[in-house]
Amino acid sequence: MLPYQTLEEAEVSVGRQLTFAEELWFKYSASKSDDILYCHNILFLFIFYTLMPLPYVIMELMHSNKFDKFKIQPKKQNSFSDFLDCYKKVFFTFVLAVGPLQIFSYPIIQMIGIRTSLPLPSGTEIFLQLLVYFLVEDYSNYWLHRLLHQKWGYENIHRVHHEYTAPIGFAAPYAHWAEIIILGFASFLGPLIVPGHMVTFWLWMIVRQMEAVETHSGYDFPWSPLKLIPFYGGAEFHDYHHFVGGKSQSNFASVFTYCDYIYGTNKGYRYKKETRKVRAEQ
Ligand SMILES: [Zn+2]
Ligand SMILES: [Zn+2]
Repeated sequence: MLPYQTLEEAEVSVGRQLTFAEELWFKYSASKSDDILYCHNILFLFIFYTLMPLPYVIMELMHSNKFDKFKIQPKKQNSFSDFLDCYKKVFFTFVLAVGPLQIFSYPIIQMIGIRTSLPLPSGTEIFLQLLVYFLVEDYSNYWLHRLLHQKWGYENIHRVHHEYTAPIGFAAPYAHWAEIIILGFASFLGPLIVPGHMVTFWLWMIVRQMEAVETHSGYDFPWSPLKLIPFYGGAEFHDYHHFVGGKSQSNFASVFTYCDYIYGTNKGYRYKKETRKVRAEQ
């Protein structure tokens, strides 16, 4: 909750006129407690999880060669009921794990000092913090995910996420509740190291969710602007991890490709890409 009663008080505290975004933030958040603002994440995660995969679902259900040629595993075709079934299963994961994790993690957020006050962070500050969050999450997710591929972790927890050998957008958060908590830790680590504003935290959760849906979409568009991001893994990179299945010892990283390169866990994927390239050139 903001410690100001009026816009004028807020301006005196900040020492300048508020920007348009700051006025909006004041009007929206002034009377809301910090824990309620934090729990907005549940709503954002659910909305973006529901909306982001829809274009991919529509493309697949159209059965048009215009889109099918971009499918990474074209032989695997899902029906409307397949998509609905996955959506329903993840809905329960939201109720059982994602929502409670958000609610019970609030004391941590309070402890690390995620602020809701004014001024709002600048665009540069948000960008740099998100970059740190992505790098920290990618590195820690790499090792936690690799650990989940050990015999016990895979058989008891991670095999649920691997039920989809040809992933779809809706299957991005489809996982055992314990995995949501284990890998959720990786998402909290960046904000724990570099705490920022609540708006940055919201954005982090939304962008990370969008990225997870994209990498599970099952489509690889050669013109995707995401390919311009250095070392970005993308859908094809993570699809290979699912395609290989339970015995997969390749492509563990969630966002970038460099961890798998450094630790030598991308050999199978590189071999597959190179042989495909040679075949295409023949
Ligand atoms: Zn895996
Ligand atoms: Zn996956």
